[in-house]
Amino acid sequence: MEETLLMIPGPTKVAPRVLKAMSDAIMNHRSAEFAEILVETNEMMAEIFQTENPAYTITGSGTAAMEAAVGNILNKGDKILNVVGGKFGERFLQIARATGGSPLELKVEWGTAVNPKDIENILDDNKDIKAVTIVHNETSTGVTNPIEEVGNILKNYDALYVVDTVSSLGGDDVAVDDYNIDICVTGSQKCLAAPPGMAAITVSDDAWNVIDKVDSNSYYLDIRKYKKYGNNKPAETPYTPSVSLMYAMREALSMIMEEGLESRIERHKLAAEATRNGVKAIGLELFAQEDVSSATVTAVKMPEGVSDKDMRGTMRDKYGIVLAGGQDHLKGNVFRIGHMGNITYKDIITTMSALEMTLKGLGFNIELGKGVAAAAGTYIASDHF
Ligand code: PLP
Repeated sequence: MEETLLMIPGPTKVAPRVLKAMSDAIMNHRSAEFAEILVETNEMMAEIFQTENPAYTITGSGTAAMEAAVGNILNKGDKILNVVGGKFGERFLQIARATGGSPLELKVEWGTAVNPKDIENILDDNKDIKAVTIVHNETSTGVTNPIEEVGNILKNYDALYVVDTVSSLGGDDVAVDDYNIDICVTGSQKCLAAPPGMAAITVSDDAWNVIDKVDSNSYYLDIRKYKKYGNNKPAETPYTPSVSLMYAMREALSMIMEEGLESRIERHKLAAEATRNGVKAIGLELFAQEDVSSATVTAVKMPEGVSDKDMRGTMRDKYGIVLAGGQDHLKGNVFRIGHMGNITYKDIITTMSALEMTLKGLGFNIELGKGVAAAAGTYIASDHF
């Protein structure tokens, strides 16, 4: 049986050495031996976040870190501005509501990025906004939000800056300290290419000043406990972590260090460009505005006359390539090609070729090879390949 190629925006393909690390014997999670692994993993996490502040790993998926970010900074009724241009922006708003906050929604048309000026205007009109949340890479639409520009604005306000980099950290530019980000969260299963089930968070001094004055809205995700136990000697987590996943995370993050963060990001950007060029050459239309398109996932409009079931079904069943569908109102209207994690040019070229074969087989009048040529040409022309 041929191996399935996962071209979805997470979970992504995990390297054999990472899978192997997971099979190591379980150890006492409150031992010096485990503390060494925990500290090393958290230190690499902080390096990838590009922050001087500590990072904490949480056993739980990316949403756990989103909830830790919001649930620890809001007292009942506190105002929070949520930028919502897709499913994950919406999730931050729902978490804000669930943890007792009073969310203010900045609606952004799906497929476009937020205009930082709109955030500035809302902050000027609402001096009591305690925090702003934004999703860097809106996985549901394939849009990258301008988190650096927003950070430049937010440094002039008291509001905390909370950023979701679940589907961008390790695949696109994220410099937590340089961008003035107070709380940044991510997940294991996307660009970091570790198995699903682990999240990470980093917190600035300004954010700790707020957190220390709030009654956490969560028991398991009370971030103060992660800090307290992390400072123990030997370092610990407050509750039993997934020991095996921690082994995997350490190995996956070591691979990022070996590749070099900058090279890894260039590899992602190139894969994104090759994908966009390939898709357009086939005659398909991108969903996201191209100047704000994602480095890690490309959303493509479903061509007229084909169902999602036939298109993605053929890709999966006949050609062994798994693509993602649209979410919410985009279900059936777009499909998404994830190009994050350990993606190489081979994966992109194979996907383009299978996409062409699929569409041709479904009766579309396309010329085979155009998408492949455009993707290949992008790689050939690049200085980073
Ligand atoms: N934020 C973004 C941008 C995501 O893409 C995802 C998952 O797809 C999440 C948050 C939620 O992560 P998880 O599914 O790991 O809880």
